Amino acid sequence: MSPASLDCPVRQRVPLAPVLSVASLRLPLSAPPASVLDAGATRFVTSGRIAIALALREMGVGPGDIVLVPAYHSLSMIPPVQSSGGTAAFYRIDGGAAVDLADLAARLTPDVKVVMVTHYFGIAQAMAPIRDLCQRHGVLLLEDCAHCFFGQHDGRPVGAWGDYAIASSMKFFPGYEGGVLISATHPLDGVALRSAGAAFEIKVALTTLENSFKYGRLALLQALLRLPLAARDALWGRLKARKAGVAVALAPASSDSSYDFDPAWLDKRSSWFARRLLVWCDGARIVRRRRANYRQLDDALRACAGVSPLYARLPDDACPWMYPLVFEQPEAAFARLVARGVPLTRFAERLWPGVDAHFCPNSAHLSRHVLALPCHQELRPDELAWIIGQVRQVLQERA
Ligand SMILES: *Cc1c(COP(=O)(O)O)cnc(C)c1O
Repeated sequence: MSPASLDCPVRQRVPLAPVLSVASLRLPLSAPPASVLDAGATRFVTSGRIAIALALREMGVGPGDIVLVPAYHSLSMIPPVQSSGGTAAFYRIDGGAAVDLADLAARLTPDVKVVMVTHYFGIAQAMAPIRDLCQRHGVLLLEDCAHCFFGQHDGRPVGAWGDYAIASSMKFFPGYEGGVLISATHPLDGVALRSAGAAFEIKVALTTLENSFKYGRLALLQALLRLPLAARDALWGRLKARKAGVAVALAPASSDSSYDFDPAWLDKRSSWFARRLLVWCDGARIVRRRRANYRQLDDALRACAGVSPLYARLPDDACPWMYPLVFEQPEAAFARLVARGVPLTRFAERLWPGVDAHFCPNSAHLSRHVLALPCHQELRPDELAWIIGQVRQVLQERA
């Protein structure tokens, strides 16, 4: 393969994240499965990181307070901590991405106010000992359910173990924006949200539909909407011309795969359309399809030479975000998969400065070696088969 082939962008024919389809919609009798929405009081905001900032504000984090964050993290988790006035410090995880309890315990100094725990890829951490540890030290627990919207753990819905929890609805539902602040212990009365305006509402609805059309879903609706979408483009053009020179952010950067944090979205409610999707979409189907797709990927790839699964098994109560596969030679595989147009994510590809192989060898290893493949509910059987075929070919090329 010549390096030039990497410069030529390959159109992704399979969606990395869920897109809206007719099959997404819930039938009246389908009961919703356990999710963070069952864990306590909820507030619907525009991203998971905004929910983190609000949770820290509710917990009274300010200058002098330390927020402990896992060494294996998304860069989007840190700016909300800084914005609160607190300081982010880190604790280690083990080789299977589980919280290193001894390391966490050793770091619970008196200025630690909050411990953030992430359920990676939808697989819950063992929460009872973590919760006990936090309670013994009088430290608040923030459960990061960005990868774990659905599921339960030891008979409790995810999100109900922490004093507060956050979720990123964009990672599980076909909406263009969306995050949830959750608290099992506080009513969240102090969190007042307002609409981000009509332009935002329209942008979210239309972008969600356009993402769906891009991958050949909702073809009938696409035909019906051709005229209104053309009108939208004209309207946008006029709006931009009028506000020339003024930066109009019609949607948060979090909706465009950026790590940016913009406090202007702190008091903004998630759009009506994105909130309706949480009700309209069939949660039971999301859980069922994701589990089936994860299993299919795992069955087809776990025994291949050059890779190993991050998790030995998918727990019964879990709903996966993506399928994490540990590659022996991730750089070559990544380049080849991208060149073939295979959708994939490198979670925690970059870690916060100072969090290196010396600080936590396991995080450094996973951040380089794990490539995560989509297992979301909107993958069609032929698309999943195509992904599996591509990964197998790339693994054989290497030999
Ligand atoms: C994506 C992510 C977040 C933030 O969610 P956004 O909705 O993108 O702001 C937080 N934690 C983890 C582990 C994530 O992967």
